[in-house]
Amino acid sequence: MDCVCGCGRNIPKDLLERNFAAATVALELLAWDKNRALPGPGPEGREGLIARGVECYDQLLYSLHREGGGDPDPGCRAWMAESLEMRADLSDMTKRRLLGNKAPNLSEADLERLDRRHPERSFTGAAAATRGAPLAGATATATADDDLVEKLERLRALRDEGALTDAEFAAAKSRLLGSD
Ligand SMILES: [Zn+2]
Repeated sequence: MDCVCGCGRNIPKDLLERNFAAATVALELLAWDKNRALPGPGPEGREGLIARGVECYDQLLYSLHREGGGDPDPGCRAWMAESLEMRADLSDMTKRRLLGNKAPNLSEADLERLDRRHPERSFTGAAAATRGAPLAGATATATADDDLVEKLERLRALRDEGALTDAEFAAAKSRLLGSD
């Protein structure tokens, strides 16, 4: 099998799993790049997490090219788990913020879990502030309209990338427009 980096090296059998791991890390990095609608993760921020992922990918490639010592697997497995979990959390948090109390999949326990893991966002507080406050009609200024358009764009992006179902999108949209 060819090396995942495209260098043309043939990867021997004993390193195939590591070649797959490198491909998985690359896909995960791509997912971060594609999900621009998501807020940055944690205090480290999106760039910090991505930089550590790139470091993992580099170490895996060094190893696949037989240029580096050490075992990159444990560190890369840990990064993958962290990244996947963080992306799932951020997707939940964004859903909840956009859908307010109509987010069907998130219980109060989920929210508390998110708050514990992401204290910088104090998410239950943000959700409470969103509840019952129609966003349209509050003010008729151009700024409010811009804000609304931006939120709708973001919703659409979330639906397009599969983070929101059509039903969730419709619920959030009617909530934003104050027509429910
Ligand atoms: Zn290569």
